[in-house]
Amino acid sequence: MAQVDSSLDATIRQAAQLVLAAEYVTALTGAGISVESGIPPFRGPGGLWTKYGEPPMDGYQRFLQDPKKAWEERLAPTGAGQEMRETIARAAPNPGHTAFVKLEEMGVLRWLITQNVDNLHRRAGSRNVLEIHGNSTLVRCLNCTARFPTAVISFEVLPPRCLQCDGILKNDTVAFGEPIPGDVLEQCWRAVEHCDCMIVAGTSATVTPAAYFPMQVRERGGTLIEVNLYESEITPFCTVSLRGASGEVLDKLAQAVWTLQTTRS
Ligand SMILES: [Zn+2]
Repeated sequence: MAQVDSSLDATIRQAAQLVLAAEYVTALTGAGISVESGIPPFRGPGGLWTKYGEPPMDGYQRFLQDPKKAWEERLAPTGAGQEMRETIARAAPNPGHTAFVKLEEMGVLRWLITQNVDNLHRRAGSRNVLEIHGNSTLVRCLNCTARFPTAVISFEVLPPRCLQCDGILKNDTVAFGEPIPGDVLEQCWRAVEHCDCMIVAGTSATVTPAAYFPMQVRERGGTLIEVNLYESEITPFCTVSLRGASGEVLDKLAQAVWTLQTTRS
């Protein structure tokens, strides 16, 4: 056990050195980060969709065809929708989320791209967050892309309307068949373009467009640091792979970066 720990510590130190050697560090996170906050993944054992079945692949088209009906269903959710809503309401950020806040506050992490919709990165205190699959606590105007907290919107008349332009509001979470919101995607690409070190945590990065980001960094000669319980499709492309619970490993990584940064200056 002691040997396993010391080899993890050595790998964490190596990762911390890579982070500090880089000019522009970003992170990409996925469901694995939120599992320790009690949020189940969608797929795989214990996954919401494994339990309730996959949502319709044409969810976005259904919304556009009948926004009123889509909102009626959304406001009285059943199955996976209901369980997800209750779980997110109960969940709190874990040390993995906090580690990214620390890295940002140290001036090390520039942007955090997440596939999670649970709002936990923002609740933890991260500021530069790009939510490519949206945020389940927000609604978004289909006309002008303005976003509002769901709590400030009136649902007396459905579908609810934009406070700025009266356009139809949709929940911000990206549905199947819905394009990733252009403003977010554009910011992601801008971040990836400058990035020379990406921390890929809690995701196997197999779903596009997220899958393109680490590969782009890699192709341009940047380093990839993986934090995951298991080997995944992205492991062979990573400079360093840190195996373990993301909360524990990321916390150690943030500590190691802080220690190195402090002793250097
Ligand atoms: Zn609008």
